[in-house]
Amino acid sequence: MLDLSRARDRMVKIHVARRGIRNREVLQAMREVPREAFVAPGFEEFAYEDGPLPIADGQTISQPYIVALMIEMAEAKAGDHVLEVGTGSGYAAAVMSRIVEQVYTIERHPGLAETAKQRFEKLGYDNIEVRTGDGTNGWPEAAPFDAIVVAASAPGAPLALQEQLDVGGILVIPVGDDLDSQRLLKVTRTGASTYSEEDFGGVRFVPLIGEQGWPEGGKPAELDRPLRHPQPVSLPDMIAMAAEPLPDFDDQAFGESFDRFADRRVVLLGEASHGTSEFYKARAAITRRLVERHGFTIVAVEADWPDAAAIDRYVRHRKRLAGATAPFQRFPVWMWRNTDVAAFTDWMRNHNEKLQPPRQAGFYGLDIYNMSGSIAAVLDYLDRVDPRSAKIARERYGCLTPWQNEPSTYGRAVLTAGYRKCEQAVLQQCRDLLAKHLEYAQSDGADFLDASQNARLIAAAERYYRIMYYGGAESWNLRDSHMFETLEHLLDAGGPNSKAIVWAHNSHIGDARYTEMGVVRDELNIGQLCRERFGNQAALIGMGTHSGTVAAATEWDGEMEVKQVLASRGDSYEWLCHECRVPRFLLDLGRDEALRERLLERRLERFIGVIYRPETELRSHYADASLPQQFDAFVWFDKTSAVTPLGPQHARAGVPDTYPFGL
Ligand code: SAM
Repeated sequence: MLDLSRARDRMVKIHVARRGIRNREVLQAMREVPREAFVAPGFEEFAYEDGPLPIADGQTISQPYIVALMIEMAEAKAGDHVLEVGTGSGYAAAVMSRIVEQVYTIERHPGLAETAKQRFEKLGYDNIEVRTGDGTNGWPEAAPFDAIVVAASAPGAPLALQEQLDVGGILVIPVGDDLDSQRLLKVTRTGASTYSEEDFGGVRFVPLIGEQGWPEGGKPAELDRPLRHPQPVSLPDMIAMAAEPLPDFDDQAFGESFDRFADRRVVLLGEASHGTSEFYKARAAITRRLVERHGFTIVAVEADWPDAAAIDRYVRHRKRLAGATAPFQRFPVWMWRNTDVAAFTDWMRNHNEKLQPPRQAGFYGLDIYNMSGSIAAVLDYLDRVDPRSAKIARERYGCLTPWQNEPSTYGRAVLTAGYRKCEQAVLQQCRDLLAKHLEYAQSDGADFLDASQNARLIAAAERYYRIMYYGGAESWNLRDSHMFETLEHLLDAGGPNSKAIVWAHNSHIGDARYTEMGVVRDELNIGQLCRERFGNQAALIGMGTHSGTVAAATEWDGEMEVKQVLASRGDSYEWLCHECRVPRFLLDLGRDEALRERLLERRLERFIGVIYRPETELRSHYADASLPQQFDAFVWFDKTSAVTPLGPQHARAGVPDTYPFGL
């Protein structure tokens, strides 16, 4: 037996309330009316899906959201007398009947009118009168009406209907002479012969056929294809319809919405800035779900490897290394030392507590910027497992010592001032360490993975800083290739069934081939490399926002500031998402082919990193992209807020040194 009342509650919550319907009476009425009683036999189990369903005479029962929107627009309330034109299944009339005193509804198909009448009787809804006929002439004997709702599209608002409105009454009607595109109008009678009009956006309804509508067999009749359910036509409306509203982060339904990606080997979660709390919270909620329910054990983030390794020890209840300094001390500190990351790592620690090491979830860094931290980690490791080799390693890495604190100057010194290049030394050290895999890994596999990754990182970073001097795509590509290889090493170390989640900026995660980065600058990224390597076993999920605040600096190494994010530009993807007026949602870009096609054409997308300069926003933060090719899905938060950096006030009572962040 289907639990339809639960499904009904869910429909109201997810498909109606979260899309912005606020009227409590409308929401309550929709919770009450059994929609399954209005669909064709055999379709009951689909009655609460977010879409149209067939009824008799080739007609459809309207989507729940459209029904709710029209009743809300009509401002239907207790005591009202309401006329509906286009009874169809009778569902909308039934919903209205739970709110108002009396509903009159007209349907041109006698069969539909009769079935609707029987449904009302069966349900005991005795305040609905049904009539067969042409609703464009209204129902003069019952006029005036407080509201008239027309469920089919007309060339204009029929005069008869306007005249049958009481003063103050509202007519809601889709109007337009294109079968594919009409406007949803709210016409209010403001006086004996005066009316005002408001436009609620693009929709697509079946035609209203009648004396003051379209003639049967005339112009619209040739358009009279199988009658369709009203559909949105403007791009933001199409997005609104495809958007799956998201609940609070702590609501289990948030993570559940991403279960469709649970069978992938790698799920990559992007962000449109490095300083937005919602992006961190969303990634944490999705990750919790994938780890807890779907066997993901690798959380690999756009952070430096040695710093993330300290967090990893914490979340896996491993002893802190003697003499280890607190991680993430370098610019941009707030990117990882913030309350959202701290909460997430605490969750990981709790989750891991009851598990054996192979089943624990690990926290890893993909980035290459903390070269000195990696050098210290390799030396520390060798000091413990192989002091003789440690001595050699110390000499080799000594070559980089002058540049350790300012590695960006290394490239220039080597290339222009004839300083010794350290390439051979660091490569040899990496090879030597990897060659001792069997010997070293015996004592502790996790420690060996950490040390070998640090040695690889030093080799990559040496090259990175050398080629960085020239600028251009090569250093970016080296960094992202290193990130990808690190991810591959982690997956290999976890075995053939290992699954990973990646947290990084949209610019790393969205397939670079479909953005300005790849098209104009020849840059690749980890998202692209994952698609090339894992095909549809990789899910690329971007995130975006319209406005709010963000934690960012004005220049590199500058102080963190909480900055106002400018409203998104009218020619951007963000603007389309904003215009659809759903405050937070998941847009699955693989589900709606028509929408995907319309979104394909490249337009601007906003990228905020650790620096944000609103004054030069177009130049410094917008780039061209084709969203449905760049990502498999897009997560939207219309208004967002800056992350909260960890400060002394976050030190936990009774714990002098709040490992792992060392506050
Ligand atoms: N409100 C309905 C529901 O909840 O199921 C859906 C209505 S359906 C989208 C539009 C209906 O308008 C069709 O059943 C169609 O036959 C009817 N219709 C079209 N022109 C009409 C007219 N002039 N008078 C009455 N009904 C009309």
